[in-house]
Amino acid sequence: MERREFLKKTGVAAVAAVAGTTIAAPAIWAQGKTYQWKMVTTWPPNMPVLQVGAERFAKRVEEATNGRIKIQVFAGGELVPPMGVFDAVSAGTVQVGSGASYYWAGKVPAAQWFSSVPFGLNPQGINTWFYSAGGLQLWEEVYAPFNVVPRPQGNTGVQMGGWFRKKMEKLEDFKGLKMRIPGLGGKVVSKAGGTVVLLPAGEIFTSLERGVIDATEWVGPLHDLRMGLYKAAQYYYYPGWHEPGTCLEVIFNKKEYDALPKELQTILDAVAMETNMWSLSEFEARNGEALQELITQHKVELVKFPDELLDGLRKLAKETLEEEAAKDAPSKKVHEAFKKFKEQIGVWGSISENAYYNVIADKYSLKG
Ligand code: CA
Repeated sequence: MERREFLKKTGVAAVAAVAGTTIAAPAIWAQGKTYQWKMVTTWPPNMPVLQVGAERFAKRVEEATNGRIKIQVFAGGELVPPMGVFDAVSAGTVQVGSGASYYWAGKVPAAQWFSSVPFGLNPQGINTWFYSAGGLQLWEEVYAPFNVVPRPQGNTGVQMGGWFRKKMEKLEDFKGLKMRIPGLGGKVVSKAGGTVVLLPAGEIFTSLERGVIDATEWVGPLHDLRMGLYKAAQYYYYPGWHEPGTCLEVIFNKKEYDALPKELQTILDAVAMETNMWSLSEFEARNGEALQELITQHKVELVKFPDELLDGLRKLAKETLEEEAAKDAPSKKVHEAFKKFKEQIGVWGSISENAYYNVIADKYSLKG
């Protein structure tokens, strides 16, 4: 600010103070202050909905703040490695990050519950937990020691179970199966006797096509279609028991976030919330289109996991979660809260959502 401009503004504040109004000099200072921020993400450039959503967030923040917060967005690897996002925001190297909290499981084990839990909450359930049942406060508590403030920023919807080169009839079919499946879902597959292989996005297709792996999960029809996975495996399994509604996050360096005037914090929170809604809507709409294309043009064989196999995975998932929760105090606390909420919302969901879907199920049957 020019010195003359500064004097003029503080002069106004002084007059206002004398006149007994509540306008103070710092408020006027804050009104004029602008912020040039950087955001790093875990996503490849142009990745639909995910990277595109992070860029949309930045653009909407700039519009809503009338240019007071400008955020320059960098895709995974452009400024820091994809898996370095949390550390960069925590250290204050950049002010903002975007990704999914289960990527930080090695550093913050409790973070896993805020993205997706096998046989956990669907998108509506996890959003309800965050916004209306204390989930977001817990998330803030878990990230606070790392100087990071989290906000939900998107949701993939219920994911697909994955692409398999052989039919899965029973739980035992996981024995010796080499599958690319990260996170808690991967731990469950290991428990079932599978070999979990972790691969970067760029190597998944070739590994599946060459039989280096027997199966892979990725996201849902939109992203799976783009990756061409239908060319490498015959069977497309559902539902995505391991990721029933993965929440994506935007994270802020806590010092930078706390230093903002209240109205700018409110705008960041509001834009994160509307991006969360936008992202889920995009996923749902585009997945519906892509599924049609996979079925009609590429003749993909859709197969539902047998109920008995799912029951078996569910038991193993329960054990896995208890073991993970026992590893540290924050995980235990988050797990117990998550479990309690899931139980309560599940009872309601069974007589609302679930009962309704059962009524209309025939109409949308794939066989019809
Ligand atoms: Ca996935």
